[in-house]
Amino acid sequence: MADRLTPEQRSWNMSRIRGKNTKPELLVRRLLHAKGYRYRLHGAARGGKLPGNPDLVFASRHKVIFVNGCFWHFHHCRVGQHAPQANAGFWAEKRTRTRERDAAQRRKLEDAGWEVLTIWECELKDSSALESQLVRFLETQQRT
Ligand SMILES: [Zn+2]
Repeated sequence: MADRLTPEQRSWNMSRIRGKNTKPELLVRRLLHAKGYRYRLHGAARGGKLPGNPDLVFASRHKVIFVNGCFWHFHHCRVGQHAPQANAGFWAEKRTRTRERDAAQRRKLEDAGWEVLTIWECELKDSSALESQLVRFLETQQRT
């Protein structure tokens, strides 16, 4: 049974098992920590978990950050739009569902007064651009 998994399915399974503390997330955390920002992890907030369990929660600023893998979350980049040849239907459906769930959770958070930033895996390569994006998000009040 396990032998029939494609590499993508195997990697999907692994990512489900690993779940949190992925390498892209750790990179963002290290960067923010070095800048002196403090945050809670994985949706933890007073009164329970936040919708979608955001990777980083800045409770006093009312801001959250998701760090998303491009493939799994169907980003509009080269990696995100890569379509596996095997089990094309399976992947299209799974990834579409993930994207829809992401959007629904974002709406819920915004309705509850949270500002949401999504960092994509492909944005991690340019660390100075990433850093200014993070600081801009954390330091500016977007709601009026
Ligand atoms: Zn991407």
